[in-house]
Amino acid sequence: GKNAGRGCVVPFDPDMLGDERHRRFVERDLRAAILMDELELHYQPVFDSRTLKVKSHEALVRWRHRVRGMIAPDMFIPVAEQSNLIDRLGEWVLRRVCADLGRLEGAVAINVSPVQLRRTDFVESLTTILLETGTDTNRIIVEITENAPLKAGSVEMQQIAALRAMGVRVAIDDFGAGHASLHYLRDFAFDIIKIDRTYVAEFATNPVNAMIVSAVCDIARSLSLEVIAEGVETQEQLSMLVAAGCTGLQGYCLGRPQPLQPSLNVNAA
Ligand code: C2E
Ligand code: MG
Ligand code: MG
Ligand code: MG
Repeated sequence: GKNAGRGCVVPFDPDMLGDERHRRFVERDLRAAILMDELELHYQPVFDSRTLKVKSHEALVRWRHRVRGMIAPDMFIPVAEQSNLIDRLGEWVLRRVCADLGRLEGAVAINVSPVQLRRTDFVESLTTILLETGTDTNRIIVEITENAPLKAGSVEMQQIAALRAMGVRVAIDDFGAGHASLHYLRDFAFDIIKIDRTYVAEFATNPVNAMIVSAVCDIARSLSLEVIAEGVETQEQLSMLVAAGCTGLQGYCLGRPQPLQPSLNVNAA
């Protein structure tokens, strides 16, 4: 990475995301990547914990860089968020999902950055794309990872309410890892809670994690909310999560994120 000069390989190093020069390199390459269709979506199934049938998929963006190969979203989403690229990236993701929906079972969850939600025209542009593509709102789930607390009455909360009013379900992602507060539950602000995978990962080593997950599931059940556990990697975790009362399960032991089958993916040819 140190030798990267003009036009050379961008050094994708998460430790360098704070570095302004590095950030500009990534931004320039990402801008081109969106235009040149170098992004792709992988879909990870979410299973119903009662029937173990697929009930939805989560769309996860990847960047197939011409030189660096596959780049994970944690390497470029933060850069996109610091520039206006996140809006274009988000729009690309939504259009791709709408085009892929016909080949997917159940609803599809897209990840939306709080930066996108802050734009007052977010819901409007989402609505336009759904109408243009003839997509049912009830097949779309919006997952939000907060990087700052979402205040009642804020632009973000207003847009969340608008999404839900039109039939789009809204999930709070990585619940328990960020700023998620109990008032989200009290105010019925979301439809789905996604338990952060660190709680699942530490199930065996620290029983308090299982108690917390159980308690969240109890509250969720009484409020008729769904609870999806992320990062289910072992059979043991799976059993414990089902016992705790999670309604949905997602993780490597059930299904990894994968591109749509290439033979069916006519548009990607
Ligand atoms: P996330 O929304 O919490 O997505 C779940 C992450 O956990 C994904 O990482 C997924 O590949 C990974 N994962 C799934 N099952 C397991 C498991 O059993 N074990 C472990 N260790 N990991 C598992 P990924 O794809 O690298 O995405 C990272 C984050 O990037 C996502 O976290 C999401 O916040 C963000 N992201 C992904 N796609 C998009 C997008 O289209 N737009 C935006 N704004 N953010 C996105
Ligand atoms: Mg997510
Ligand atoms: Mg998550
Ligand atoms: Mg996340």
